[in-house]
Amino acid sequence: MEGSDSSQSPWANMEYDVLVKIFMTLNLMDLVYGVAGVCQSWRAAAHDPLLWEKIDFTSSSSHPIIARRVSYWADMHSRLRFKQMLKTIAKFSGDAVTRLYFSFYIYVDDKHITYATKRFPNIKWLALPGWNNINETTFIRSLAGWRNLESITFPSICSPTSVMKFLGEHCQNFTKLKMIHTFDYSCAEAVVNLLPNLKVLSLRSSIVYKDALYHLVEHAPSLLALNVAHCLVFELDELPTYRMNIRPVMEKEVTEMAKRLEKVIWCDRRTCPRCNRTFVNGQGGNSWLEFQQEIWRDDEFADFAM
Ligand SMILES: [Zn+2]
Repeated sequence: MEGSDSSQSPWANMEYDVLVKIFMTLNLMDLVYGVAGVCQSWRAAAHDPLLWEKIDFTSSSSHPIIARRVSYWADMHSRLRFKQMLKTIAKFSGDAVTRLYFSFYIYVDDKHITYATKRFPNIKWLALPGWNNINETTFIRSLAGWRNLESITFPSICSPTSVMKFLGEHCQNFTKLKMIHTFDYSCAEAVVNLLPNLKVLSLRSSIVYKDALYHLVEHAPSLLALNVAHCLVFELDELPTYRMNIRPVMEKEVTEMAKRLEKVIWCDRRTCPRCNRTFVNGQGGNSWLEFQQEIWRDDEFADFAM
């Protein structure tokens, strides 16, 4: 289509609404670097706000310029490249974006997150990548630009306590959190004390301590739903290690928790295919990364699934 005359090409004369509908089926990269370059009418349709409510790098994970391995994107060249990509996307999206899902493998740094805050100020749903070099102060400063945040998925980031404190004080609509993080008593206390409006928490595949779970369920004022599927559960004094014997299911604990919450999601480790694949049979190298990505991307709570 390159070089086609929009006044003659039947493709260029397609109705705007039809184009937008078709473009809604494309992934991010094809939208920005593909159809937008075909002709003027297609480029105009590619700017429609309907297409930009969600920026989803996960949908582009098979694209050659999106990282598929962490090490591809940690170098300076790749980081600059990603910054440029964000700038290009911002030209199309304007301020229509309410959901920002990074790819698990994209290596995000301070400049990326600062830029994203400025150019996408209306974010309500945020999924941070599995790997980042974001300074705690920078991240909290960035959150100040996202006062409408309702949900965050974060696999690993600086101090979760500082982040929760800010979210609780400044983001009144923040009600959903997914953490892939060691959930100990101090973490539970932070959720209870700092996130009074939290309704949904997913700790899917995290390391969790029983005392932390009990404290959370008993004291979190607004908590309605909890996902503890595929978690490794430890007693107070245990040091987590994946070489430990597989612990029996937490049936007793779940029964207790279910008395207080509307919904508790868990799995029976003796029969759960995912738990057996990961912790019993063991997998290493790329399989481990792919597994981490799977934890990050999927969730038994549809709200967190990407
Ligand atoms: Zn499981």
